[in-house]
Amino acid sequence: MKKICVYCGSRTPNNPVYGELAVELGQAVAERNWTIVYGGGRVGMMGKLADAALENDGEVIGVIPTALKRREVAHPDLTKMHETQDMHTRKALMESHSDAFVILPGGFGTLDEFFEILTWRQLGFHDKPIIMVNKEGYFDGLIQFSQQALSEDFIRPSSLQLFRETRSVNEVMELLDNLLSND
Ligand code: AMP
Repeated sequence: MKKICVYCGSRTPNNPVYGELAVELGQAVAERNWTIVYGGGRVGMMGKLADAALENDGEVIGVIPTALKRREVAHPDLTKMHETQDMHTRKALMESHSDAFVILPGGFGTLDEFFEILTWRQLGFHDKPIIMVNKEGYFDGLIQFSQQALSEDFIRPSSLQLFRETRSVNEVMELLDNLLSND
């Protein structure tokens, strides 16, 4: 059974499209009988993702640092919850437990997680798929910035191939089916 790590916002953004995206992804992963690995919160998009998977009989593993249990409202109904001593252990555990990473729109925390998993791949610490969902053009600025970094030769062209940009959950699932089918 594949484990898909999802990074997304801990807040509920103004545009309901993002919450719906989290629900759609939770449902799609559960329907494949795959497991979601995520930050373990019950709030915001993170909560929506977990609830949608659980409601569809999916397995959901949360990884939350003790200090954030109250702030991010630890989800009480997950298949499994790992409590970690700190943020670094949380991120390392999420990486080692997962076969692929999906990034939905989010705030600084999500961006931090995206760049960390991306740079770990760039450094060869793992070679697992990283898929960004650029819904509503939310990540357009970041893509544009990456192009600038490329044009000024701060990053190699090959580094831009380390993650895939998609627009929908359907595209994510198609990519995951292809990329994980040989494992
Ligand atoms: P956000 O996108 O800011 O709503 O955060 C989404 C998730 O990223 C939350 O579960 C945060 O705890 C987590 N996160 C991971 N790394 C960090 C970090 N360095 N600073 C803040 N939040 C982080």
